[in-house]
Amino acid sequence: MNPRFTLLVVDDEKQNRTLLTELLQDDYQIILAKNGEQALERAQERSPDLILLDVLMPEMDGYAVIRALKASDATRHIPVIFVSALDSARDEELGLELGAVDYIAKPYHPPIVRVRVRNHLQSVHQRRLLEQLALIDSLTEIPNRRRFAEVYEREWRRCIRSSSPLSLIVVDVDHFKLYNDTYGHAAGDVVLKRVAKAIQSALKRPADFVARYGGEEFVVILPDIDATNGLQVGEKIRLEVENQNIPYPESAAGPHLSVSLGGATGIPHQNEVDSQLFAQADHCLYDAKHAGRNRVVWAPEPARSSPVKSDAQIQQSEAGG
Ligand code: GH3
Ligand code: MG
Ligand code: MG
Repeated sequence: MNPRFTLLVVDDEKQNRTLLTELLQDDYQIILAKNGEQALERAQERSPDLILLDVLMPEMDGYAVIRALKASDATRHIPVIFVSALDSARDEELGLELGAVDYIAKPYHPPIVRVRVRNHLQSVHQRRLLEQLALIDSLTEIPNRRRFAEVYEREWRRCIRSSSPLSLIVVDVDHFKLYNDTYGHAAGDVVLKRVAKAIQSALKRPADFVARYGGEEFVVILPDIDATNGLQVGEKIRLEVENQNIPYPESAAGPHLSVSLGGATGIPHQNEVDSQLFAQADHCLYDAKHAGRNRVVWAPEPARSSPVKSDAQIQQSEAGG
């Protein structure tokens, strides 16, 4: 397990906290809490990978802590191991019923605690790998449509907070059906991989994002990018694909394989992601196809003013600027 995991140790007795810290600190980063309230605070702030939770504590006991952890979206997923002096089967049952992944009775045999912690973290690690895989397109190995939806929502909110423009590009391979029919589906797959790579290499800023939206369609998110700069990025992508020099004389847009791009820029203002920006980009893609393919069409046209104006732009245009 390469990532350095963080463990939250919760116990009202200093001696117990010290014991567990000494046992685990060589392998993990340890955070401590001495009561239930502090445990909830630390769990929210630090989002530990695992919590070792004492049951008997004054005021808020371990059962109350795990109930609160499970009631919050931010902490629900964190596995909890009870470490308790209560050793009856009924106590263990209650702990597991409340959602703990394990229950260790005190006094414990230290090596067993170490092994159990390691096993549970192994599961955490595997679950994360699976979660990541579920967001990657298996053919092109770039993010998939599900991941796009997450990133789009995140960037949308960020652009609202910073009153920044957000640009979106839809990229579609030209005459791809004919390419498959002419060269075979396997050759088509190779093309999709190369197009994905080409788009990636045209994107330079860390915040720029590309996903495979489906089939032979890709979608690019450009946060903080206005229409003028967005159009430039679109053109760069178009050129990058063209420069792959993938022979395709049968294409009416040939002699090389090409893509068409539709782009749109807006200034997000409402909290809910609206589908309009995507629809605009898609409409531009349609226009690019009909204008002969292998080109970029943008809405609004960069030289003119944006239909979604910021307050500053409105004031400026009212002032005659
Ligand atoms: P246009 O220029 O108007 O976009 O024409 P097109 O032929 O590219 O568009 P159309 O939507 O008719 O065809 C898309 C083709 O993409 C059909 C489908 O077989 C192919 N395709 C979709 N996903 C894959 C894939 O994963 N691998 C391969 N090889 N082909 C795919
Ligand atoms: Mg196509
Ligand atoms: Mg298509």
